[in-house]
Amino acid sequence: MRYISTRGGMSQKSFSEILLSGLSPDGGLAMPEIYPKVTRAELDTWRSLSYPSLAFEILSRFADDIPADDLRNLINQTYTPEVFGSVDITPLRTLEPGLHILGLSNGPTLAFKDIAMQLLGNLFQYQLTKTGDELNILGATSGDTGSSAEYAMRGKHGIRVFMLSPLGKMSRFQTAQMFSLQDKNIFNIAIRGVFDDCQDIVKAVSNDHVFKLAHRIGTVNSINWARIVAQVVYYFKGYFAATGNNDEQVSFAVPSGNFGNICAGHVARMMGLPIKHLILATNENDVLDEFFRTGVYRPRTTAETRHTSSPSMDISKASNFERFIFDLTGRNAEQVTEFWSKVDKGNAFDLSTTPLFSRVKDYGFVSGSSSHAARIATIRDIYQRYHVLVDTHTADGLKVGQAHREAGVPLICLETALPAKFSESITEAIGCEPERPVGFENLEGLPQRYVVKDADVQAIKDYIDQQCEISA
Ligand SMILES: *Cc1c(COP(=O)(O)O)cnc(C)c1O
Repeated sequence: MRYISTRGGMSQKSFSEILLSGLSPDGGLAMPEIYPKVTRAELDTWRSLSYPSLAFEILSRFADDIPADDLRNLINQTYTPEVFGSVDITPLRTLEPGLHILGLSNGPTLAFKDIAMQLLGNLFQYQLTKTGDELNILGATSGDTGSSAEYAMRGKHGIRVFMLSPLGKMSRFQTAQMFSLQDKNIFNIAIRGVFDDCQDIVKAVSNDHVFKLAHRIGTVNSINWARIVAQVVYYFKGYFAATGNNDEQVSFAVPSGNFGNICAGHVARMMGLPIKHLILATNENDVLDEFFRTGVYRPRTTAETRHTSSPSMDISKASNFERFIFDLTGRNAEQVTEFWSKVDKGNAFDLSTTPLFSRVKDYGFVSGSSSHAARIATIRDIYQRYHVLVDTHTADGLKVGQAHREAGVPLICLETALPAKFSESITEAIGCEPERPVGFENLEGLPQRYVVKDADVQAIKDYIDQQCEISA
């Protein structure tokens, strides 16, 4: 499999070559040159496979430059009941006939990002051991991504994580989850500022190409192709669990922010998985819902981006959306470049009067948005009707998913986090706190390890430099 850029300016690369990189040199995103098609016979065989075996079948088609035995070992080390709580890895819960929740949040940080990130940790370590290189991951987080990256990279050889977060701005649970890690290769940096200050520092450091190269700075952001492809697996797993045979179609409801999760659903559908609809759910930050309803993609400014009770979906633009538009245009890199020359300047593009917009439905997408009141009502309703407690993000998916539900088509709602992470909203909905999974009872009481810094680019560079010296 060769990889190309959505903007057409990258020479073809292998999976291993794009594994550690963020953006392509031309500013675009890496995409497989073609989608491998799954035959009916293959689907029939895959139906009975375990999660790791299914993951191998899918990943080996995309990561074909990693020797098969090595890839199989990496996958088997990653998807274990010890890390993900059950042999199913992503267990399916049936609320009533035809309505299901796919549990993606039973990894170490109780959010779906663990599924891809845990594999990424093992892939990175494998790759770096091969080349003898090292990697310093620099990131900014306001919640799930940072902790998921830290739990995936802790103790890994050749990798350090420098994670910036706004001092005192994350929930106590999220803060404790990150800061309680005592691993020597994990560096929590609390910044006196807001999330945007953290992100600005990451951008400034990454734009200093001399520093970046000398210190082997890398990222694990959601545009990483390996993360997308790892997420393709559970669409297949969920399909098999919710259906009796491969003639059936299903729809998936996906709580969306950066379009990473639902992009994996799009890839699964392009590979031939019988998906009727990909139901995209947003919160009040509805830039994606607006596009699928109107054909206008209008990224928001930071000032226009609202802080909501489903905070991991609070985005102003969706970084993976370019991948879908690449496919929608028939893989026309010139057109994508033209659209994103507008987006990169903060402007909108409008497909409403072009033939492209009528083609969107051929890809199975429908959408809707939710609100604080709707997600609280949904949490309460699901709890009262089925005695199942869901978190705020999953509630957005359930709310929009049920609005698009069709008779005779099983609906699978993706559970992207556990309610224990968002106890305030849960208490608002049902009047009591969610239960904590085993091992998390005393999280906030554990000793914490972090440094506090001003929002000063040079101070962060100095800190990274020092820590690399110390542990070199
Ligand atoms: C990251 C995240 C999302 C959004 O996923 P995308 O891949 O960015 O669309 C939804 N819910 C939770 C809990 C998340 O952590």
